[in-house]
Amino acid sequence: MASIFTRIINGELPCYKVAEDENFFAFLDINPIAEGHTLVVPKKEVDYLFDLEDEVLAGLTSFAKKIAHAIDESLGTLRTGIIVEGLEVPHAHIHLIPIYFEGQPVSLGRKTEVSEDRMKELVTLISKAVKK
Ligand code: 5GP
Repeated sequence: MASIFTRIINGELPCYKVAEDENFFAFLDINPIAEGHTLVVPKKEVDYLFDLEDEVLAGLTSFAKKIAHAIDESLGTLRTGIIVEGLEVPHAHIHLIPIYFEGQPVSLGRKTEVSEDRMKELVTLISKAVKK
C-alpha cells in the first residue's frame, strides 16, 4: 500500500505544499513543533533514509538546503535545524525545523498549535522564497 506521503505527492490527500521538482517534494508537517516545520521527501517511496541510492540521498539533501534557505529568508529564523527519525511514516523524509531563538526546544515530541490560517500564511511565505 502506498505511504501517506506518496498519497500526498500524488494529490490524493491534501497538504500545504511548499515546493516540488521532478524527484522531491516539500510540505508543511501537519503537527508542527515550530511554525514552518517542513518535511522534505523523495518522490520514490523508500522507507529508510539510509537505504536511498547515493544519488537520491544527495539530491534530497540539496533540495532540503534550498528549502531551508527559503525558510530562513521568509520567516526570519536564527537558522533551520534538521531531524531524521522516520518511526511514524515509512517513507524517507527530513524534518526541517525553523529555530527562532537560542534554547528553543527542538524535539519531535513537542507539538505546537498553529491555526489553519497561519499554516496558509506560512506556506505562502516559504514557497515564494524558494529559489528556482
Ligand atoms: P517521523 O516518521 O519522522 O517520526 O514523523 C512523521 C511526521 O509526519 C510527523 O511529524 C507527523 O506529524 C507527520 N505527518 C504524519 N501524517 C501526516 C500527514 O498526513 N500530513 C502531513 N503534512 N504530515 C504528516
